Amino acid sequence: MWQAEMRIDTATIRDNVAGLRAGTPAALMAVVKADGYGHGAVPSARAALAGGATWLGVCTLGEAAELRAAGIDAPVLAWLTGTGDDYAAAVRTDVDLSAAAVGGLDEIAAAAARVGRAARVHLKVDTGLARGGATPADWPALVEAAAKHAAAGAVEVIGVWSHFVYADVPEHPTTDRQLGVFREALAVAERIGVTPQLRHIANSAATLARPDAHFDLVRPGLACYGLSPIAGRRYGLRPAMTVRARVVLTKRVPAGTAVAYGHTYTTDRETTLALLPLGYADGVPRAASNAGAVLLGGEVRPVAGRVSMDQIVVDCGDAPVAPGDVATLFGPDRPTVDDWAAAAGTINYEIVTRFGSARVPRVYEGLDG
Ligand SMILES: *Cc1c(COP(=O)(O)O)cnc(C)c1O
Repeated sequence: MWQAEMRIDTATIRDNVAGLRAGTPAALMAVVKADGYGHGAVPSARAALAGGATWLGVCTLGEAAELRAAGIDAPVLAWLTGTGDDYAAAVRTDVDLSAAAVGGLDEIAAAAARVGRAARVHLKVDTGLARGGATPADWPALVEAAAKHAAAGAVEVIGVWSHFVYADVPEHPTTDRQLGVFREALAVAERIGVTPQLRHIANSAATLARPDAHFDLVRPGLACYGLSPIAGRRYGLRPAMTVRARVVLTKRVPAGTAVAYGHTYTTDRETTLALLPLGYADGVPRAASNAGAVLLGGEVRPVAGRVSMDQIVVDCGDAPVAPGDVATLFGPDRPTVDDWAAAAGTINYEIVTRFGSARVPRVYEGLDG
């Protein structure tokens, strides 16, 4: 019997994707990087495809290979690669690649020539994030190199793309500025004679709140898993991840009992303490010490004291909590991933991607359950 588990509802992922899909005429690339934001890349990808996604997005070639090894043959774009990556294997397995510099594009083209077929490439322009992508100054040279490789049959330009600075404030003026730079980059490509099949720039926030940024393809990640990137707005999304643990021990203690490492919590009355077998090694943020809360015995109850590597203590007052009772750390109802993010001073993205460990089984329900 499990003492702690993570449940992933794949039907919920499918339904979230279907809802996003219904909100746009653009095609949808479900982003399943970082093991599907902690939900499992392969089951999440299958659920997203069932919900109407026609593309999958990942960072690394290893992530793309995991999808292909599972028999998923939908188009996949891998956008975080570098020198030493096996571009030939990517070309052979039909994994689309991103290029942001002439040197990298040359390496992709050389690998494609060795394989004997064109690499499918998305040219990335840096519209303001100053992370990946070619700067507007370097952009014409990148497009010209792509045109040259395309003429030689080594490259097929599938996409021109970029990424927004504000994942949480879609109406920020920087977003408008980036859209202007993106349109100009598309015009430059057009003048050089490169017309991509797909123009794409929208993350979850822009998918939900900036229809003028959808172009041909949207790339939501977070929203597929039912979390909103925009504080206070739910957009009808339903979280797909639930983390629960059974109480392994309860004890009655007097007022004035100092609890856990560093004695940072002291009971203010006689109370029942419950011990849960989840800690920071499993993803519970240590920064949520004395701040996170769990649903136990019908009420949301505070974490008492520091989060340890393997366990947390919950102050249950006089509630009749007993070993074996199930506590919910977060799920679709309460508490939420967002509650834990607020308690830890971070964002919901970080909570779900960090959750889970080899000792916490991930159980699927819904499509695969
Ligand atoms: C992670 C990522 C996304 C998805 O972002 P969300 O905010 O989770 O929707 C889209 N595009 C790129 C390039 C990314 O790295």
